[in-house]
Amino acid sequence: MATVTRRLDDVFHIGNGVGANRVGGTPEEDAACELASSWMEEAGLEVEVDERGNVVGRLTGTRPELPEVWTGSHLDSVPEGGRYDGALGVVAGLEAVVAVGRSERTLGVAVFRDEETGCHGSRWRVRHGSLPGSYVELHVEQGPKLERAGVPLGVVTSIAGIVRCTRDFDGRADHAGTAPMDGRRDALVQAAEYVLRVRDVAAGIEGAVATVGQLEVRPGAANVVPERVRLTVDARAPDQERLDQLVAELELGDAHYVIPPVKLSPAVLREEVERRGLPVVELPSGAGHDAGVLAAAGVESSMLFVRSLNGGASHSPEEHSTDEDIELAVEVLTATLRRLANPK
Ligand SMILES: [Zn+2]
Repeated sequence: MATVTRRLDDVFHIGNGVGANRVGGTPEEDAACELASSWMEEAGLEVEVDERGNVVGRLTGTRPELPEVWTGSHLDSVPEGGRYDGALGVVAGLEAVVAVGRSERTLGVAVFRDEETGCHGSRWRVRHGSLPGSYVELHVEQGPKLERAGVPLGVVTSIAGIVRCTRDFDGRADHAGTAPMDGRRDALVQAAEYVLRVRDVAAGIEGAVATVGQLEVRPGAANVVPERVRLTVDARAPDQERLDQLVAELELGDAHYVIPPVKLSPAVLREEVERRGLPVVELPSGAGHDAGVLAAAGVESSMLFVRSLNGGASHSPEEHSTDEDIELAVEVLTATLRRLANPK
């Protein structure tokens, strides 16, 4: 565990500023990948760096013809990000693979590039490189559910699908002083009503969320009744049925499906959590992950979440998980990898 803590520190201090600063494609992300490669080599793993810069460290199995078993995550961060997002999955993944040791199947630790801006590394890999048969990703929850439940670990059942769309509202520009209230066609008032509907519709569908994050008001002057408003909707749900329901109820006619929802394979993780007498909390992930990209490509994928403290603070230096919770997660990950790599 001391190694995990020290390595998280080492990765965190690359780019040294307020929080983690290893944005995808920057020299800081490169430096983090080189550091991880050096740890893999030190541990006796064979390191592959593909053309996109993804790193896979392998411990070759006694039956290398069988599908490989990988763990891992990403080392890029958002600007001023946290200490655990991505880095934990790589550092703890390496620790777990070393603990499992040589197995029947080849074990791998993957570092996928440029995850935060849209899982670019793993998307490239599923199109151009070899893939494992199974992938298990350890990640911080990035939300408050486990903290609220008082439970250290969570087993992820699915990764939410994401739909994005713009909506336009048309009204009529008028003089803010002379147009009476009863005759106005104010585009922003229509948009405001729609924003509230977005909130209410999402709140009414279990596991769904929806956000209006951008608003463009024309002509955008203090003394003119708004003529035209364009806003963005980001809507997410754990399965296709609920995503379709969101799209229908919010009238997102020209919606663009960014990521389809994917089901994960939680069985082994669930059993290993249970075996340790820990409560089993199953939850969908609202954030996208490399595991979702691999699952969509047909890899049997699963994810273990570690409780995020500080109200689930994420993508900020406030992000925090305890050493005790991480230790439990490494234990469950190790046992899971051992089973997957040595099938009965
Ligand atoms: Zn992440």
